[in-house]
Amino acid sequence: MKLLRVGPAGAERPALLDRGGVLRDLSNLVPDIDGSLLADAAALARVAEAEAAGRLPELEPVERVGPPLARIGKIVCIGLNYHDHATETGAQPPAEPVVFMKAPDTVVGPDDTVLVPRGSRKTDWEVELAVVIGRELRYAASHEEALAAVAGYAIAHDVSEREFQIERGGQWDKGKNCETFNPLGPWLVTADEIADPQALPLKLWVNGELKQDGSTADQIFPVAEVVRYLSQFMTLYPGDVINTGTPAGVALGQPEPKPYLRAGDVVELAIEGLGRQRQELKQA
Ligand code: ZN
Repeated sequence: MKLLRVGPAGAERPALLDRGGVLRDLSNLVPDIDGSLLADAAALARVAEAEAAGRLPELEPVERVGPPLARIGKIVCIGLNYHDHATETGAQPPAEPVVFMKAPDTVVGPDDTVLVPRGSRKTDWEVELAVVIGRELRYAASHEEALAAVAGYAIAHDVSEREFQIERGGQWDKGKNCETFNPLGPWLVTADEIADPQALPLKLWVNGELKQDGSTADQIFPVAEVVRYLSQFMTLYPGDVINTGTPAGVALGQPEPKPYLRAGDVVELAIEGLGRQRQELKQA
C-alpha cells in the first residue's frame, strides 16, 4: 500500500493512493499513520481489505502532501554508505556503518519549502532511501529478523550544511539538524510492495539538471545489515526512521566552485516505486 498524509501542516489526515492512482480517505478507518498503526497488523489488514473492496471514499485533489509518518520517534542516519559517495568526499569506505542522528522536528512534507540556514554558504542535497520501522527490535540475530521489523520505505532528503557539518567543530549534528532539513515522502510504501530494497534507482535534480543517479545496489551496508547493526546499539521502535545514506553526486563532491544550494533553487528527488519530491529553497 501507498500510505500518505494530506492537508495543512500539523493537521494532516491519513490517506491512501490506490492501485488506480486515486487518492482515498482513511480518516474514518485509522486515526493517523504513525508507529502505532504500523505495529498493528490487524488495522493494516483492515485498510488493505477496504481498499480491495473499493470501500474507501475518494478524496478531493489536495493542496499539500505532508510527511507520510506522524510522531516519528527518532531518525537514525547512515553516513558514507555508498562506495562512490565515500570516494567523492575523499573518505575511505568505512569498516562499520557511520551512524548519526537527525531530530524528528527536521521533517517536512515532500514538496514543502526548504530553508537555507542563516549564515549558510554550503547547503547541500542528498537523496536517500528511508526505512520505516514497524516492530520493536533489539539485538536482531539475523538479516531475516531485521527485515521483518521493516514496515516500509519512503524517499528522504537528508539536506546537509557542509560548513556547519565539517568545518565548525564537533560532530555532524550542526550541519544536519537545521529546520526543514528532512523532507520525507510523498508515500510510505509498505515493505510487501518493494521486492528488493537493494535494487532501487535513486535520482536527484537541481534546477532540472541531473546531479545524483545511483542505485541502492551500491550500498556498502544493505538495508538488512543496517537494521541488524543498529539494533545491537539501540532499540528500534515502530515509527522510527533510518536514512540509509546517499550515492555520489552531491555538491561537496564537485570541483570548485562547488554548486551549493541558494534561495530560489529547485531540488527534485525520485526513487523508483516511492514517488517524487520537489522543494524550492528559500532563505531562513
Ligand atoms: Zn545522508
